[in-house]
Amino acid sequence: MKNIQQLFQSEDGNIHQREQLLVLLEKIVSSLDALKDPDITTLGPLKERPANFYRELMQEHQVPTTGIGLEEVVEQLTQLMQGHPYHTHNFVTNVLPMASIPGILGQFTNALLNGNNLWDVYGPAAAECEVKVVAMMSKLVGYDYTKSFGYTTWGGQGAVFSGLRLAIAKQFPHAKEDGVPNNLYCFASENAHYSLLKSIEAVGIGSKHLVRVKAGRDHSMDVADLHIRMTEVIENGGIPIYVVATTGATDQFGIDDVQAIKEVTTSLEKKYSLKPIHIHADSALGGFYAFFNDYDFKNNPLQFEQSVLQGLLQIQARMQHLAIADSLCFDFQKLGQTPYLTSLFLLKEGKHLELLDIEDFDTLYVGNRGYGSYHTGYTLECSRMGSSIAIFAALQAFGKEGYQQLLANYVQVNLVFRAQLTAKIPLLQVVNATTIGPVTAFRLYPDGLNWQSEQAGHYTQDQIEHINAMNASFFEIIGEGREEVFFGDTTRVCTVKASDTAQSVPIAAAKFFSISPYTETAHIPNMIDFLQEKLNVLEAAHHAYS
Ligand SMILES: *Cc1c(COP(=O)(O)O)cnc(C)c1O
Repeated sequence: MKNIQQLFQSEDGNIHQREQLLVLLEKIVSSLDALKDPDITTLGPLKERPANFYRELMQEHQVPTTGIGLEEVVEQLTQLMQGHPYHTHNFVTNVLPMASIPGILGQFTNALLNGNNLWDVYGPAAAECEVKVVAMMSKLVGYDYTKSFGYTTWGGQGAVFSGLRLAIAKQFPHAKEDGVPNNLYCFASENAHYSLLKSIEAVGIGSKHLVRVKAGRDHSMDVADLHIRMTEVIENGGIPIYVVATTGATDQFGIDDVQAIKEVTTSLEKKYSLKPIHIHADSALGGFYAFFNDYDFKNNPLQFEQSVLQGLLQIQARMQHLAIADSLCFDFQKLGQTPYLTSLFLLKEGKHLELLDIEDFDTLYVGNRGYGSYHTGYTLECSRMGSSIAIFAALQAFGKEGYQQLLANYVQVNLVFRAQLTAKIPLLQVVNATTIGPVTAFRLYPDGLNWQSEQAGHYTQDQIEHINAMNASFFEIIGEGREEVFFGDTTRVCTVKASDTAQSVPIAAAKFFSISPYTETAHIPNMIDFLQEKLNVLEAAHHAYS
């Protein structure tokens, strides 16, 4: 039994066991450091994963009869690091962040305490932090913190799901017992994340009742189309319950206009005597730009460049209306730079959580009472990890200004990337020039063709699909070089109308997504050279075939 006890933290705080733990931690961190190379995007060379790779892992592994000892375990852990992606300055694929030190320390503290965030008797640290970060972020977006509430949950996906549960419960409080009516409808932009699709399937509304609203030229929801589509549904006997406003879309950072969406829902509620329709701002990614809501743009204390200021003002024009939404989300594991999984769901009227609770739930003014007053019986999870601790640590360490600097830098490197790409490689064209933020979507065109004409609907379906195929080949080539510069890509950054069919055709594009704190404007020329090189490879391959 003594051996087994040695696998735990000490019971009494003795130095011997502490040092044992610290030595192992030191080994892990120094092994990681030994693999780091700022000029590549992996820890050591990329690992090949042949077709039978995972099958072999399954064949080879069983639980050892006797434990192998901590030294050996750590050895195996450090082997896992080899070939792992790492968020150096050339890491510009999707929103996969580097975990910041405060985030790691928060998560580590949470692991040491291993509190269960289900109940403050079991996880008081996480409960306290949850209440703190809910209030902090509520104040940031402009919710009344005495009314709002929220909790950490399973991703931006979990927040979209939680919003939907509430949307149903608010209109049909007995749906929990009776099941959901079969005429409910949800609405989101065609550029929305697929979280809503999965949620609608899961609650039993059925994905045929997801209405995809057109997006406009700036990639945000076409609010006139929302009005038309909602009216259609209502006139045909459907009940609209949930509108997801994407505030910072994952592929091109389109920002839906929450204020305009609210005007549509309220006017329809009035006209047809409907119950309030729940609006969820899917701000998982973009919500962090609310850090600029009270930035002093006039005096510009952090001395951002003029172009960056302009960009931030454009984002702020939309983000300042986040508080109109009934619920929203912050994925701290994205622009909050904390480890997975640290998503925060916020609800304007916290009292509505009562509708989801499994037991009596009288008041939400929690955190200021004594023993055992904080039960999260309204979450879909039972036991919950205390990810609020990592969020809290990051908010404290960065402060508003730290986040402002980080987020402004993402905008700045994107602006510089766009300018240099446009100047140097005209065949690669920016398709989201109207949206400012951490991502640039760019698309390869055959000589003479361009995004402007394509977006205006001048190309045939065949032409668009041909350009998509060309881009797919390009993604393969830049993807093979991801060790050097790790770009992202998407098969549908938006859709455009074809000139010869009634179809809206998806547009494929490569992505420059700045997420590493180490990416700076000085690194852009090298990335442009990389893209030119890969274009040459594509052209050479093309000539070889033809
Ligand atoms: C990332 C993202 C999601 C999904 O979030 P997860 O944390 O991966 O579950 C949903 N919506 C938007 C806009 C996102 O960017």
